[in-house]
Amino acid sequence: MSNSGAVSDHDGDAGAPGAPGNEDQMGPAELDGVLSEARELRRLIEHHRFRYYRLDDPEVSDADFDELVRRLERLEQQYPAIADSESPTKSVGAPPSSQFAPVRHRVPMMSLDNVFSDGELDAWAARIRRALLAREGEGAREGEGAREGGSQQAGIDDIELVCELKIDGLAISIIYEDGMMALASTRGDGITGEDVTDNVRTVRAIPARLAPNAAPAPHRMEVRGELYMPVSSFSELNERQAEAGERLFANPRNSAAGSLRQKDPKVTAGRDLAFWAYQIGELDGGPAIERHSDGLDLLLRAGLPVNPEVRVVKGLEQVQEYCRRWRERRHDLDYEIDGVVVKVNSTSLQHVLGSTSRSPRWAIAYKFPPEERTTKLLAIKVSIGRTGRATPFAELEPVLLAGSTVRLASLHNEDQVRQKDLRPGDTVVVRKAGDVIPEVVGPVISLRPDGLEEASFPSECPECGGKLVRLTGESDTYCTNMECPGQRVQRIAHFCSRSAMDIEGLGEQRVSWMVASGELVDVGDIYALTHAQVAALEGFADRSAQNLVNAIQESKTRPLERLLVGLGIRHVGPSVARALAGAYPHLDNIMAAPSEQLEALEGVGAVIAESVTAFFSSEANRSVVEKLRSAGVNFSSGRARDAAGGAAPGTLHEAQRTLAGRTVVITGAIAGWTRDEAIAAVLAAGGRSPSGISAKTWALVVGEAPSSAKLAKAAELGVPTVAAEQFGELLATGDLPPVGEGRTPG
Ligand code: NAD
Repeated sequence: MSNSGAVSDHDGDAGAPGAPGNEDQMGPAELDGVLSEARELRRLIEHHRFRYYRLDDPEVSDADFDELVRRLERLEQQYPAIADSESPTKSVGAPPSSQFAPVRHRVPMMSLDNVFSDGELDAWAARIRRALLAREGEGAREGEGAREGGSQQAGIDDIELVCELKIDGLAISIIYEDGMMALASTRGDGITGEDVTDNVRTVRAIPARLAPNAAPAPHRMEVRGELYMPVSSFSELNERQAEAGERLFANPRNSAAGSLRQKDPKVTAGRDLAFWAYQIGELDGGPAIERHSDGLDLLLRAGLPVNPEVRVVKGLEQVQEYCRRWRERRHDLDYEIDGVVVKVNSTSLQHVLGSTSRSPRWAIAYKFPPEERTTKLLAIKVSIGRTGRATPFAELEPVLLAGSTVRLASLHNEDQVRQKDLRPGDTVVVRKAGDVIPEVVGPVISLRPDGLEEASFPSECPECGGKLVRLTGESDTYCTNMECPGQRVQRIAHFCSRSAMDIEGLGEQRVSWMVASGELVDVGDIYALTHAQVAALEGFADRSAQNLVNAIQESKTRPLERLLVGLGIRHVGPSVARALAGAYPHLDNIMAAPSEQLEALEGVGAVIAESVTAFFSSEANRSVVEKLRSAGVNFSSGRARDAAGGAAPGTLHEAQRTLAGRTVVITGAIAGWTRDEAIAAVLAAGGRSPSGISAKTWALVVGEAPSSAKLAKAAELGVPTVAAEQFGELLATGDLPPVGEGRTPG
């Protein structure tokens, strides 16, 4: 089985779509223009390939690079006169580095053609169909008879296709001679790669000796596959880099390539690299391979890791379904994928279809929408939260990413801005993975204009002009002006938000108008708003004003824990609020409780307890509470009883403590619960629910779109996983469901 084939041509894919250009009607000046654009694109592509393959340090995102290649391909298809056999559209990768001994591949290691949509996938299938029909015509003339896909209706629906995940790592070739690893190399330019045998030997997933059950044993077998770094190992590596003050790696692909292409194999050994074998290159001896899937079986039997998600399918619909599923679930995996590879299963059909100078015609990569792009960093600004915390964010030149236009990206805190050395004017890599808020991965240093100044973190509050302060030992910066209108708006909007008092019709925009007009100074003023006052404000009609006044009145009866959340006490989110309201009958009891008593509550530590007592010892906060009391806002929990009524503060009824002493970690979304509610429920049942998994974790509850790192850790530590549907039962009984009924044994 090989990547090259009988109908190989070396000038590109003769069957490729694209109408020939109209260069006959073009003047020489126009053709010159096209030619110089093509030359510039070729130069840029070669440059980026060198940085990517040789230096493992790309300057542009893959999506931006792919766009350059596509532009050049289109030009070359449209204007055959500018064709050049040396064009990067006809070659693979980059020449090997002199740092490693060269290895000539006996069977070239090719690239893959890409498609980006179902329509383009259809076009690939149509090309295959045409090639098969043409071959069938020849076969009939030569009297060869029918073969798979060779009927008059020869089409993609009649032949077996193999769908595989397109792992985002780097291709390597490993030669086994009489069952022993003899040579491992990178792809290089497809013809000559780099000898990385010593480094590959350090990768645990790759056996030095093949398992003896691949009878009859091949004399020589070339295993091809993708070397990659698991996402969890990548995060750990970057944590170590950060602790050591070293530069962070941009993504798992670059760290895998950088870790393999090391002079000293000890460095490679220290990095957690993994491998998926996806193909047999050269095969001398051993069983006959008639289908690609037989090759994968042989690899598996020989002890090589083969990805468990490989599927043999028939028909494009099944291919599209596979692609759709994995586009949605790509973040469930502990390795990065950037698409799906679709391969014709029959090796004789592969042979018939052959290849172009750079890629086989019998395979195609269906690429997912990009999650990383490069763009310009325009400015670093801060936004002020309700506690006065100044959160930095990047203002970007708009860029289309994962289906939406991104203009702003999160920067976490000042230290991260410094560590990444981001400077306005830099070209930066922006990443938006799944539903996660876009983040700036880092600057492209090689594209930094000369003399670009280091970024200075904003020193003034953008809302009130007050000084931003960073206390020693804290990573966050704050606006400490209690009168700051920005904080005021955030505090009041938070009080009205869904998770707190849920006052419909009083969102951030309206609150900011009311703060600006002086109607609202603190949350206590909300209940004094009259219909006439509201109706007089911009954006309100008589009816909407009445609706708001009604919503405000209605909110007075919210449970105590919602009021506690709404007050915006630092560290008091829904779970802590529940713990407090569950332990005390009335807000007055909480306000009077000494810090040590609060601290003893399940889910409330010293820091939270101190924050609560500090909040209620403030004169200003007490006066807000008094305004709320006189407005008739509910202060009672109606749950636990004080000394007069029964259980002492800080205890919960035994019957509810089904998870006493147990640690339950939650990952992914649980239908019908917010994350905070689910955690609060575990706490209320006497359990603990930290964010990370450890050997002490009793169970991992797995909701929708869980963290693959957590799943991997649970498997590693033998922690049982419980399906989200069983969460209610778990809380009620404190028992793990039986193995197989939504539970893995761990
Ligand atoms: P490719 O990555 O699109 O496809 C070929 C490669 O896919 C193979 O060599 C193999 O390594 C890999 N692969 C993963 N899973 C596979 C599977 N199951 N079966 C077969 N192959 C599998 O093509 P390419 O020629 O390696 O390089 C192009 C890629 O590299 C593009 O994603 C491109 O954006 C990126 N690139 C980026 C830059 C940059 O500057 N950012 C520069 C050069 C290349």
